[in-house]
Amino acid sequence: MTQPKQTLSFQAEVQQILHLVTHSLYSNKEIFLRELISNASDACDKLRFEALHEAKLLEDAPDLKVQLLVDEAARTLTIRDNGIGMSGDEAVAHLGTIAKSGTREFMSRLEGDQKKDASLIGQFGVGFYSGFIVADRITVESRRAGLSPEEGVRWSSDGTGQFDVEPITRATRGTDVILHLREGEEDFLQPWKLRSIVSRYSDHISLPILMRKQVWDGDKGEQRDTDEWETVNKAAALWTRSKADITDAEYQEFYKQLTYDTEPPLAYTHNRVEGRSEYTQLLYIPAKAPFDLWNRDKRGGVKLYVKRVFIMDDAEALMPVYLRFVKGVIDSADLPLNVSRELLQESRDVKAIREGSTKRVLTMLEDLAENQKDRYAQFWEDFGAVLKEGIGEDNANRERLAKLLRFASTHADAGVSFADYAGRMKEGQEAIYYITADTLAAAKSSPQLEIFRKKGIEVLLLTDRVDEWMLSHLYEFDGKPLQSVAKGAVDLGALQDEGEKQQADQAAKAIKPVIERLKTALKDRAKDVRVTGRLVESPACLVVEEGDMSAHLARLLKQAGQQAPASQPILEVNAEHPLVKRLESDPRFDDLAHLLFDQAWLAEGGQLEDPAAHVRRVTRLLLEPVSG
Ligand code: ADP
Ligand code: MG
Repeated sequence: MTQPKQTLSFQAEVQQILHLVTHSLYSNKEIFLRELISNASDACDKLRFEALHEAKLLEDAPDLKVQLLVDEAARTLTIRDNGIGMSGDEAVAHLGTIAKSGTREFMSRLEGDQKKDASLIGQFGVGFYSGFIVADRITVESRRAGLSPEEGVRWSSDGTGQFDVEPITRATRGTDVILHLREGEEDFLQPWKLRSIVSRYSDHISLPILMRKQVWDGDKGEQRDTDEWETVNKAAALWTRSKADITDAEYQEFYKQLTYDTEPPLAYTHNRVEGRSEYTQLLYIPAKAPFDLWNRDKRGGVKLYVKRVFIMDDAEALMPVYLRFVKGVIDSADLPLNVSRELLQESRDVKAIREGSTKRVLTMLEDLAENQKDRYAQFWEDFGAVLKEGIGEDNANRERLAKLLRFASTHADAGVSFADYAGRMKEGQEAIYYITADTLAAAKSSPQLEIFRKKGIEVLLLTDRVDEWMLSHLYEFDGKPLQSVAKGAVDLGALQDEGEKQQADQAAKAIKPVIERLKTALKDRAKDVRVTGRLVESPACLVVEEGDMSAHLARLLKQAGQQAPASQPILEVNAEHPLVKRLESDPRFDDLAHLLFDQAWLAEGGQLEDPAAHVRRVTRLLLEPVSG
C-alpha cells in the first residue's frame, strides 16, 4: 500500500451484518472480547504454522501472546497480539468484506425471531465486527510478519458505511485492535471485569493472555496498574490437562467455543492413547445437526494439533465421512509438524488414529443408546441417517453399527432396533421384514403390508434416502436375513396355516383365465401378473423380482438425475377381492386392467408415465350410467 489515506466502503453484506450484530447481540455484548481474543489466538496459530517453514518470521519474539491494555483517559481497550498480522491489502480484504459462504443464512437466522444466537457470529466468521457492539470506533494497527516496519497499516472505522486505511510505521509484528468504547461501556475498562470475561470464555486458549499486574494503592484507596504483566487465563489447552482436573462445565464451554454451537453437546469422550501411535482425543457429539450436514463434501469437524501446535481445521482424514458430525480435537505426538492434507491421507499413523477415534465414537454412542435412551433418540433423529452411511462404508464396524440403527415399524413410529424386532418375531418367523418408501405415511399404507398386519408380524418402515443404499450392504442381522415385503413372492412359510393355503390355492385356480388376460392387456407395463397372498383389502399391488431394483430406489435415482435400469414390476392381484372377481365378465376389461395397474402404481408413490390416459379411462368409467 503506497497511497496515503484511503476511504473505502464496506461490502454491502458487511453493512447489513454490522447493523444486525450491533443491534441484535447487544444483550450479550461481552462476547466481543471472546471473538477478538479468538482472532488474536488464530493469528498466533497462523504465525506458528508459517514459521515451521520459515523460522525467521518469528524475528526476535518467538513467545506468542495476547495482551489486554486499558487506557482510562482515552477510554480505549486494546487487544494486542504478536501473531501473523495483516498487510495493507489483507486488512482491506479481511476487515471490509466477508469471504465466507453462508453469510445469507447467518443473516436470515439473526433476523428471524429465533433467540438471538450470539454464537452464530463466530460460526459465520464475522467475529471481528462484534467489536462495534461496545465501540463507536475501532482502530486496527498491524504489520504482517516478514514485512518491514514501514509496511504497517492502520485501519479505522466507526462501523457505519466506511473505513479508512493508511500506511504506518510499526516497530513490532502483529496486531493491535483498539476499541474506543461507547458511552456507557466503561465496565470494559475495569480490569476485574475483563479478567472475569477471560476466565469464562478464554481459559482454554493455550496462548497466555496477559494483563498488567495490579497493586493496592493505599494512598488513593484503589487498585493501580504496575509495569509487570501477568497471565490471566489458564493458558493450557483443555485436552492437555488431566481428565480429573476438568469439570463438566469446562468441557461444555470448550465445546461451545470450538463449535459455536448454542446447545451443549450430547456426549463427549477424552482420552490419551498410548502405544504404537500416541495421541490425545477430545471428541464431542453435538445435540443438533448443522444446516450443511447433508453435504458429504463438507469437511469433518475435527481439528488437528501436533504436539500442541495447531495444524489444521477440519482434518477430514481423522474421521470417516459418516462421522462428519463429530467435533473435537486430536493432538498427535507422532505426526511431523509440517504434515499436509495430502500426507494425512496416506499416513499410517493417521489411519491408526482414525480407527481408534471411530471406535471411541461408537463406544460413546453405544453408551448413550444403552444408558440414556432419550438422548440417543435425540441423536438418532438428527444424525441417524448419516450414521447409516457407515453400514456401507465401514466394513470393520458394520455389526456394531447395525446394533445402533433405529427404525420406524408397524409396531412403533420410531426407535425400533434390530434387537427389539428380533425379540418380537413370531414363532416360525425366519426373516426380518421391511419396506422402503418415500414417507412414513406411504410406507404405512402400502398394500404389501396387509397380510403382515393381519398376522401381527412386524415390518420395519424405511423412509430415509440412504436406506436403499444401506440395505445393499446389509443382508442380515444376527443370522436373520433381511427381506423386503415388496420383493419376490411372499412366502410366509410356517406362518400360514393349512386352511389359508388351501383357500388361496382354490381362489388362484378359479382366477387363472383372468390372470392370462391381464398378462396380455398389460404386456407393455408388467413383467408378469400373478396371484398373491400378501393382500387383504387391496385388489392389487406391484412388486419387483428378488434381484431387481425396488421401485423406490429407481425413483430416487431418477430424482437424482441418474439412469435407473428399466425393469418392469410384477402386478400381483388379490384373487379374493370383489373387483378382481368381477373382472372376468366385465366388458370394460382392458380399461379396468390398466386402472388396476395405475392404482397399484400410485399407491406405491409412483408417478404415472401417461397421466392423461389414466384420466381418460377414469372419465369413461365415470360416464357409465349408474346401474340400479
Ligand atoms: P474469522 O475469525 O471467522 O475469520 P473474523 O470476523 O473474526 O472472522 O475475522 C475476519 C478476518 O480478519 C480473519 O479471518 C483474519 O484474516 C483477520 N483478522 C482479524 N483479527 C486479526 C488479528 N488479530 N490478526 C490477524 N488477522 C486478523
Ligand atoms: Mg474470528
